[in-house]
Amino acid sequence: MRRFLDFNTYFRSVFNEKVVKLSLSSAATCPNRDGSISNKACIFCSERGSGDFISLKKDIDLQIEEQKKLMAKKWKSNSYIAYFQNFTNTYGDIDYYKNLYNHVIEKDEIVGLSIATRADCLGDDVMDMLDDLNKKTFLFLELGMQSIHDDSLEFINRGYDHRTFDLASRKLKDHNIKFLTHVIFGLPGESKEQMLESVNYLKDLKPFGVKFHSLYIQEDARLAKYYRDHPFKLLTKDEYVNLVCDSIEILPKDIVIHRLTGDADKEKLIAPLWAADKLSVIGSIEKELKKRKLALIDF
Ligand code: SF4
Repeated sequence: MRRFLDFNTYFRSVFNEKVVKLSLSSAATCPNRDGSISNKACIFCSERGSGDFISLKKDIDLQIEEQKKLMAKKWKSNSYIAYFQNFTNTYGDIDYYKNLYNHVIEKDEIVGLSIATRADCLGDDVMDMLDDLNKKTFLFLELGMQSIHDDSLEFINRGYDHRTFDLASRKLKDHNIKFLTHVIFGLPGESKEQMLESVNYLKDLKPFGVKFHSLYIQEDARLAKYYRDHPFKLLTKDEYVNLVCDSIEILPKDIVIHRLTGDADKEKLIAPLWAADKLSVIGSIEKELKKRKLALIDF
């Protein structure tokens, strides 16, 4: 059986113990929401900037303690990755981010830092900050690639083209800064071949990690209105499961699979309804991987 590194296995191998991610908010906004690029946001982005389960508390120490208590109900661990998940966490006052991230990584129990941002928000001042953080902690960024197809990127209103993503990724590689990329399957108009072209691009790019998502429609995203006005075919659960398994077959085995499916907010989910049952989707992916004689360890 081939092995594919998943989040848990990978971090256990690096830190010799279970590492838990704490979802935190830097109180950032996003240039694709505040009018700098557009005020419309990406079409699937929820009110909370694609981080629906994040605390709304401002104080970062309180957020950390709250998340630690929450996570302790699920896992026993004394090592955490501070994960700044929602909105664009390198956009705005760079000194603010420097202070915030340095404050967080000084805590003994915080062994790593994960920063979600946009490929067009990595200017020289940001890169200097990242270079510095990269020397001090286990740093990785998250970038929303979603697709390599510019028609799809225009449809979702991401606000920059694939070339910009490609250049930014290569810059991060030159700086030895790890990053993972999000991929969305099921964007309207994309064929299965096109979706796998995005995966093949990642096969060559070799990012640190990948997060897979199915396109789902939530009440609080612009996509809800679009879907009502222009209904389009969404992926079935089987189609999604097969796309993820095909992708795992394509990707080099040292790319860490950080996520097999998205986290829809059940209260706000419009379609597809199967996306509400994350555990069942993961279970079906694992079953299909076994059938193909592939395996993810300890997902
Ligand atoms: S870049 Fe992220 S936070 Fe900004 S609109 Fe798109 S999904 Fe939302």
